[in-house]
Amino acid sequence: MDIESTQNKLQAELKFGEQNGQLLHISEVKSGLDCDCICPGCKTPLIARKGEVRTHHFAHHQGQESESCIETTLHRFAKQVIASHKKVRIPEDHISASSVDKAGKIHTARERVTSEMIDFEEVGLEVLKPGYRSDATGYPYEQQDLDIEIRVTHEVDNIKKQKVQEANTCMMEIDLSGLDRDASPEAIAIAVISEAPRKWIHNPVHLQLQKKLQQKADLMMMQANQAMEEHERQNDAPLTPSHPDHFILLGYKTGHGYSPRYQKNFELSKLYTVRQVVSTNTRNFTVTGSGGYEMEEFDLDESCIRKLESLEYPTEVSLTMGSKLQGRKFVPVVLDIKVL
Ligand SMILES: [Zn+2]
Repeated sequence: MDIESTQNKLQAELKFGEQNGQLLHISEVKSGLDCDCICPGCKTPLIARKGEVRTHHFAHHQGQESESCIETTLHRFAKQVIASHKKVRIPEDHISASSVDKAGKIHTARERVTSEMIDFEEVGLEVLKPGYRSDATGYPYEQQDLDIEIRVTHEVDNIKKQKVQEANTCMMEIDLSGLDRDASPEAIAIAVISEAPRKWIHNPVHLQLQKKLQQKADLMMMQANQAMEEHERQNDAPLTPSHPDHFILLGYKTGHGYSPRYQKNFELSKLYTVRQVVSTNTRNFTVTGSGGYEMEEFDLDESCIRKLESLEYPTEVSLTMGSKLQGRKFVPVVLDIKVL
């Protein structure tokens, strides 16, 4: 008596019997052996117990059902639900790819694929696939088959996972391990179609998306590396201004005196800047530059001289340019210097 009550506590009651390959709920069959059902698990005859006291259930005609009879039955009924409803909610997926730049910073591209209800045109059960058999297969789903595995006790094992990966087929798993073993057919159907936890085992479309995200993350990484290299290049090359409108000032000289040759007083103030030697191609000429540096010389307005005395060279500045008449032509002259 003690043993029996312990067993009753451990085991849920069998609520489905098998008739001509279909599972019938206890409410759909006649009482007793007239139910004409066998156990979906061990395939032995069942008696429908539809009395007044206990909740209606099936019992094995000889012996007692084991846990595996109940589990097999739930597994079979879940497959039958998918076959009859021809729909299932697909799992959500979070897809991401990362790439590490040379500073060690991680660049990640992510995308969330939302869960949604999928309607199938056809559902097959126990469909033979390359190297494995699916619990159920619905199609089409994104121009391919969707294998649906039902987990009652054991999740999809690694061998099956590997076969799915090799075949690159689409597979999801519905986890009924947390479902009440006494759940009603309606509750089981809701769990199977929509509510029970579910996850992707393998999804070729998501793999493609993952590859795209990897390209995106790699691009982010390469852009970061380029920006770092550009920054390093500029720091290594003090002769290149940080902005194309700026100048690197190398120095200046001023002077005044008397020229015996021209027999007059003179004043001299020159500013020296540096610029990159670039190659130039026009229709009429070709100049090949080294990419190195050349010096430029500017005349200087006297008002700038005091500012120039306080600087350390070379230094980056912006120049205000004007022009002055020298002989019979205008030449550029630096009117103001702004230190940056
Ligand atoms: Zn059984």
